[in-house]
Amino acid sequence: MTREPRAVTLRAVRKCFGDVTAVADVTLEIHAGELMVLVGPSGCGKSTLLRLIAGLEEPDGGEVWIGDHPVADVEPRDRDVAMVFQSYALYPHMTVARNLGFGLSVRGAGRTEIEARVGEVAASLRLGELLGRRPGQLSGGQQQRVALGRAMVRDPGVFLFDEPLSNLDAALRLQTRDEIAALHRRLGTTMIFVTHDQVEALSLGQRVAVMDRGRVQQVGTPHEVYRRPANLFVAGFVGSPPINRLALTRDRRGRLAGGPFTFPGPSTHREATLGVRPEDLTAAPGSSAAPPGPVGAPPEFTAAVLRVESLGSEQRVHLDGPGEAGWVARAGPTLRVAAGMKVSVRVAWERTHLFAPDGRRLGRAPRPGGAPPS
Ligand code: ATP
Repeated sequence: MTREPRAVTLRAVRKCFGDVTAVADVTLEIHAGELMVLVGPSGCGKSTLLRLIAGLEEPDGGEVWIGDHPVADVEPRDRDVAMVFQSYALYPHMTVARNLGFGLSVRGAGRTEIEARVGEVAASLRLGELLGRRPGQLSGGQQQRVALGRAMVRDPGVFLFDEPLSNLDAALRLQTRDEIAALHRRLGTTMIFVTHDQVEALSLGQRVAVMDRGRVQQVGTPHEVYRRPANLFVAGFVGSPPINRLALTRDRRGRLAGGPFTFPGPSTHREATLGVRPEDLTAAPGSSAAPPGPVGAPPEFTAAVLRVESLGSEQRVHLDGPGEAGWVARAGPTLRVAAGMKVSVRVAWERTHLFAPDGRRLGRAPRPGGAPPS
C-alpha cells in the first residue's frame, strides 16, 4: 500500500552559487498527490529547486516544507522523497533485482520484505524478465524503468524527477511519459517533474510552474499558461511555433499602432507588444478573397508567403509580415499555399494578447479600428 502523499511548500526559497542567483525567492505550493512540472530554459534554476527539496542543496534563505514540517534539519534520506535523475545512476555491477532492492537493504529491511517489494515493483514496471541482468545489458528505456523502480521501491511520499526522459529517443520518450502519467494515476503520489521541454511539461503536468532566471513566472494548469500567459516570457516559451509578436507604439492621437493595425482608444502605455498564436491566424490565398470570417469583412492584412512547412497534419505558413520579423500562421493540411503567393490573413482578436513594456500581460488586444490595410 502506498503512503499518504505529501504536499511540498517552498517559502521565499533562495539559492546562490557565488555571484549566480540560481533560485530567487521562490514561493510555490505543490499539493499532496499533485503532478507538478517545473519547466524553463537551461540555467533557469529548476534542477537547483528540485535539489533543494531533496536536501542535496541547502537554501541561503527561505524554507522548504514537506508535509507539515520544515525540513531544514532533516537529512535527505529521511525526507520521504525519492529522486529519479537523467543519468540513471544504476550500480553497474549489480543485477536489476539488487539495484531495485539496494535502497531497502541499506535501510535495514529484511530479505523477505525486499523480495516482496522488488517483485511487486518489477511486475508493475514490466521488469520481471530482466531481474537477473546487469544495467549494461539493458536498453536505455529499460534502464530508465529500473531507475524509476528503484524510487518506487522506497514508497516515498514525494517523487522528484530531474529530466528523466532526456536520454531516450523520441518514441521511447513518449512511451515513458505515458508510463509516468499512468504511474501517477495509479499511485496518487506527489510528483515534481523537471524538464526544459514545454511540450513535455504541458502534456504531463496537472499544473506547470514556468521558471526564468531563478524565478517562477507563472503557475497554472497547462491551459492557463498557454491561453493566459502572465507575461511575454511565458507567452514566448510555451507554444511551438512560438507566439507571433508585433511592437506597437503610441501614435500622435494617443493610440497604439504597429504594422497594419491601429487600436482604438487612447493608451496609457507608450509602447506595447501584440502577441498572436499561430493557430489564431487564418490565412487564405489571394490578397482580395476574404478568408472565413464575418460576411463582407475585409481581410485584416495581406502578406507574402516566404516558406511553407508541411508537417502532415498541419502546415506552418511563414509570412513576410506584419512587421519586420514576420509571422507564422498554422493552417490545415488542405490549404493550397506555396512560397511566393500572397495571402490574406484574419486574426482571432478574442484570443490575442497585449503586453506592457515590462512584459506583463495587460489583457487581450481590442479589435483594431482605423484605416483598413491597403
Ligand atoms: P538545465 O536545464 O541546463 O539543467 P536548470 O534550469 O536545471 O538548467 P540549474 O542547474 O538549477 O538550472 O542552474 C541554475 C544556475 O545555477 C545556472 O546558472 C548554473 O550554472 C548555476 N549552478 C547550478 N549548480 C551550480 C553549482 N554547483 N555551482 C555553481 N553554479 C551552479
